[in-house]
Parts: sequence; structure tokens; C-alpha cells
Amino acid sequence: MKNLDLIWQNTLAELKLQLSSPVFKTLFGKSQLIKINRPKAIVATNSAYINDLIKKRYQIPLATALKNQLGWQPQLVLTVSQEPPPGDNGPLFQITTPKKAASPAHYDSRTGLHPRFTFANFVVGNANNFAYAAAQGIIKNPGFAYNPFFVWGGVGVGKTHLIQAIGHELLRQKPDLHLRYVSAETFTNDLVQAIRSKEISRFKQKYRQLDTLIIDDIQFISGKEYVQEEIFHTFNNLYIANKQIILSSDCRPEEIPKLEDRLSSRFMGGLTVDIQPPDYEMRVAIIRQRAELLGIEIPQEAISFIAETVETNIRELEGFLTQISALAKSQKRKIDLVMVREFFGLKKTRSSRRPHYRHLLSVVAKTFQVKTSDIQGKARRKNIALARHVAAYLLRKELEMPLEKVGQILGGRDHTTIMHAENKIGRLFSTNQQLRHQIIAIQKEL
Ligand code: ADP
Ligand code: MG
Repeated sequence: MKNLDLIWQNTLAELKLQLSSPVFKTLFGKSQLIKINRPKAIVATNSAYINDLIKKRYQIPLATALKNQLGWQPQLVLTVSQEPPPGDNGPLFQITTPKKAASPAHYDSRTGLHPRFTFANFVVGNANNFAYAAAQGIIKNPGFAYNPFFVWGGVGVGKTHLIQAIGHELLRQKPDLHLRYVSAETFTNDLVQAIRSKEISRFKQKYRQLDTLIIDDIQFISGKEYVQEEIFHTFNNLYIANKQIILSSDCRPEEIPKLEDRLSSRFMGGLTVDIQPPDYEMRVAIIRQRAELLGIEIPQEAISFIAETVETNIRELEGFLTQISALAKSQKRKIDLVMVREFFGLKKTRSSRRPHYRHLLSVVAKTFQVKTSDIQGKARRKNIALARHVAAYLLRKELEMPLEKVGQILGGRDHTTIMHAENKIGRLFSTNQQLRHQIIAIQKEL
């Protein structure tokens, strides 16, 4: 029998193909196969939280990958090998395990923080990992690490979520911290109100005695001279006392129109980071997380499809998911690729006419620049084999053809060959952008 390490390495290699790399790293980065005692396979990770996630969502891929190594279906037992060392920054990728009876979604009037915007449900990926890392620095050393901390980026990319999450984390460390989150608009209204009711000194006190001040969407003060004056003094007061200031904006400080130079130069005096729109991997991670939060199940291929289709920002992604989930509920349907494609207006209801398989083969052949007869023939050249695998995948997906029939069409191959091809392309669909684009283009043409 192969040794445990080797079995585990091969199992991980297989899992790696199926999971996005942040998920893979978080779940299995510190995992080990400890023991095999047929039918049990004992796997250790570094936390109960991770075990929970694996149990909930990755048990089947894990068990299957292990089975492929062992030759028999293992019964998984998950244990914790060690707690993460103190000071560990936590996983690079985090997903909430939602409490079904979620706490009411109200913001806290003392701090202005909303309970939803925490790091526990903040997905970290290429688009925001620098901002995330900087945020961790602030949490470790508020007031000193980066002051001010200026986060900028387009709409719906997670600026508010990130700066509020910092607030939550600072308060968790020090519950009596004087911390306040305001939008620049609220700050402005507050100021106007204070002037009206002649309570300006109370206003000043309120903001200048804080330990942490978070102002969201600071671009709002553009052109508002009086507000800028007040922000300037508030800023200076807090800054010289080493109080943490966190700002967000839809553009860099120097690009905010009609902002006094003395303010933009102060805003640039600490650390300025941007958050980009999420890339494909991150969109997948966010869809998974939201699905979990909404308590809905979405198969991988439908997730990939949504992630490929909605390229804009996280807010929009969430909006679509909520709509898809509502639609599924109202129509009492499960969410799958067919349903998701319908949702995005991409042709074909289940009942509408299906393309003929010959048409499908010719579109695949054209895409991969091979002949239809090659796809149906015996040749094993790389591009022909790939075209054939894609054809198998699409005949299954689009025409829901039985494996045997697909095998007959594709040169008399047996059903396990077809199954492997289908699985392989299914995996590549998630990991290989070029192939994904090709497949979606074919699907649109059918
Ligand atoms: P912005 O302030 O940049 O316009 P928000 O912070 O309001 O964007 O984010 C929009 C939505 O997307 C919110 O519902 C937020 O919870 C969600 N969101 C943003 N970034 C992330 C992330 N990294 N992980 C999970 N959800 C996110
Ligand atoms: Mg915002």
C-alpha cells in the first residue's frame, strides 16, 4: 500500500483542480491524512471551523478524490491537529458559516457600524488582498501603522465593507474604544444640524475625542468649503494624537475635484490603497459565500456561468444572486445551469427545441479548427482530443444525451471515457479562462 503522504499528495492534487486556489489553500493548506483504518480515513486540519466548512460543502469532492487513490469509498473523519498559532492572520480566504436566525440587520447607533460588514464574511482575492493586508496592519497597530488609511475604488467593490470590518475588529479588541463610522454625507448633515442648533462645540467634541474615525465616501465633501474646513481641523486633532483615521473614496485623494490641497495632501500622508473589481476566481468565491448565506445550493457549473457573466462588481453580483434565488423559490425550481442561463436571457428553456447533435459538432469543430470527422474519428492529436472532450461535455450538457449515445457518436468510445471527458472539461471550465470563453461562445451559437 502507498504511504499516507503520497496518497494525500495525490488527493490534494486532484482537489486542487476542482477548487479555486484561495479555497483550496484555506481548507487544505495545512491538512494531513493521519490514518487509514478501512473504512475510515482520518484527516486533520488546523481548525474546527475549517472542518465544519469541509463537512458542509467539500465532503464529497474530498471523499471522491480520496477514493480515487484508495480504490474504495472512505468514511471521512475530520479532526483538528492544532489550533492556529496566536497572531496568525487567519485564512487568506474566509467564508461565513451563517447562523440561520441571523441577527437583525441594524446598524449600531453608537458606532455607526453595520453587523453584516465583518471580516468573517469578507472574501479576500486578487482585487483586494493588498487592502486587506493593510487593514490587518492597522488592526495590529491602530494609529501608528498607516495613518490615515485611504481606500479608494469603484462602486460596489467593497470599500464600505472593508472599512467597517476594520471598525468591528478594533472594537472586538477594545470594546470601550471611541470609534465612529460615518459617511461624509452624515458628517455634513451632522455639522449643518449643529450649526443650526448652535451646538457646534458639542459637534467638535464628538468628533475630536474619538480614538478612531472612519469617514466613508469622502469625495462627497467636494466643493463644500465649510465642511472641508471642519474636516481639516478634526483630522489634525486626531492625527497629532495618533488616533486612527480611515477614509474611503471613489477615486484617489488627489483626484477628488474641488478639494483643498491641504486636505488632499493630508489624505495622501498615510497609506492609500485601491480595491479593484473582483476577478473571476473572486467572483466564484463570493457567489459561493452568498449562496451559503442565502441558504441556496448552486451547482459548480452554474456558479462558473454566473461568475463569467457578471463581471462588474460585488454589489451587482449579490443583486443577481438574490434575484436568481427569489426566482427559483417562486418557480419552485432548483438552481442549475439551465435556469441560470434562462435568467440571463441566454436562450433555450428546457422545453424549447434542442440543436441537432451534428450542428453542435460542427460548431465545436469550427471553434477548435478541426474537422467534424476528426471529432468523430480516432485521431488523438491534442487539439482534436480537446475538441472531442468539449463535444462530449456539450452533448451531455446541452442535449442531455446518455453517455453511451455520446460514446457512439464520438467514434465508438465507451461510457467511462465519455464520463472522464465530461468531468475533465467541467473542471477546466472553472480553471481555464480561455477554454471557458470558447465553451460559452459555442453555447451561445447553438
Ligand atoms: P462599496 O462601498 O465599494 O460601494 P460595499 O462595501 O458596499 O461596496 O460592497 C457592496 C456589497 O458587496 C456589499 O453587500 C458587501 O457586503 C459586498 N462585498 C463587497 N466586498 C466583499 C468581499 N470582499 N467579500 C464579500 N462581500 C463583499
Ligand atoms: Mg460604500
